[in-house]
Amino acid sequence: MRWWRPFTKSRKFSAEPHPIEPAMDSKNLYQEVILDHNKKPRNWGKLADASHQAEGLNPLCGDHIWLSLKLDGDKVGSIAFEGESCAICKASSSMMTTNVKGKSVQEAEELIREFRDMATGQLDTGSQLHHLGRLSVFAGVRDLPSRVKCAILPWHTLHAALNSEATISTEGDRDPVETER
Ligand code: ZN
Repeated sequence: MRWWRPFTKSRKFSAEPHPIEPAMDSKNLYQEVILDHNKKPRNWGKLADASHQAEGLNPLCGDHIWLSLKLDGDKVGSIAFEGESCAICKASSSMMTTNVKGKSVQEAEELIREFRDMATGQLDTGSQLHHLGRLSVFAGVRDLPSRVKCAILPWHTLHAALNSEATISTEGDRDPVETER
């Protein structure tokens, strides 16, 4: 027996007159957070006594960041970043540093996974459990394919630093995440 629906429901009368906008609150919060962290990036600079560091490149946009951190036992004791990047990458880097500071390596890796899954549309922060907190303002980048790598770059760079890989690039075979659909 074949299961199929020969008729699709007519969209004629259900079509919205305008595209549905994301909720204004989350949109405003997103812009506010990006602007704030772009203007005043937290933990900007380079640690002189870093135990781990990595460089992150996103040739698609031109983002280029350096991340340095110092583990205090199993925890991220201090962390800093600097570089040249677009506002989304800079804001994401800034928020990443504030969110992983004081966290264990395992907790940081969990945030890396969740952020990546959110940005690529595999984690719905509205209906699924996560630890992202305010980082969920970046959920909107999943609808902007060209910006996904900008937002994810600092997180991949953190992963590379924690795993002692000197440089990561979002280009080509070494692309650490598949963002094409
Ligand atoms: Zn960028």
